[in-house]
Amino acid sequence: MRHIRAIGFDLFNTLVMAEPDTLDRAFSRMQESLEQHGFYPEQGAYKKAYYDAVITFIQQTREDGRETHNRFWISAALEKLGYEVSPDDPRIAATVEDYFSTFYDSCYCVPGARSMLERLKDEFQLGLLSNFTHWPAALEIIDRLELAPFFEFRLISGQLGYRKPHKKVFEALTGGFDTSCDEIIYVGDDVDADVNGALGAGIQPVWFTYVLENKPPIPAHMAPSETGEPHESVPRVSSWNEFLSFLKIS
Ligand SMILES: [Mg+2]
Repeated sequence: MRHIRAIGFDLFNTLVMAEPDTLDRAFSRMQESLEQHGFYPEQGAYKKAYYDAVITFIQQTREDGRETHNRFWISAALEKLGYEVSPDDPRIAATVEDYFSTFYDSCYCVPGARSMLERLKDEFQLGLLSNFTHWPAALEIIDRLELAPFFEFRLISGQLGYRKPHKKVFEALTGGFDTSCDEIIYVGDDVDADVNGALGAGIQPVWFTYVLENKPPIPAHMAPSETGEPHESVPRVSSWNEFLSFLKIS
């Protein structure tokens, strides 16, 4: 194996998971928040308009790699139901904050993640690269789980403007490390975003299959995209202990 000096990590379903009801609770919180801010859409109609908007905007990100944001989905749904409101309206910003507040008490570390980071932090440069629309919420989740001190930098797609597997976000990752691409590995659970993204940027991926193999309860919409298995030449590990063995550390 090549000499590894730096390791990039995905966040969700790699280091962190969310309770299975997280998105349902977040959606309810969003509806309450809209009412608190003077919007009273009929609930069933809002739900349909919202998820229609989500599908449209996410389809766009698949085409051009640019990250989207919840404020566009919410304002598009409200506009569809007759409200005149812009994505930059402060009431929408407040609703987005309320939506993500439900994540803060429902995220927890994948077993062994923290002790693995503890074990590696003095020997490797560690960086985080996550696809997450509302970047302040991603940082808050990382802070609350006390993972921030392990990383030299934390890159969130919502702040970068592009999302994995786009090359630009992996360039930001390699640019954050003080080493060359051939001494960096990137670990993540999603074949398309993480494995293919890393390969496209010339970085060695490691496929993390804990969620795939153990099937812990997670929100259905946060499951990794089903794009099959990566080429057999891509190393795969199903636990953080196995990852330490892969690095020849125990
Ligand atoms: Mg992931």
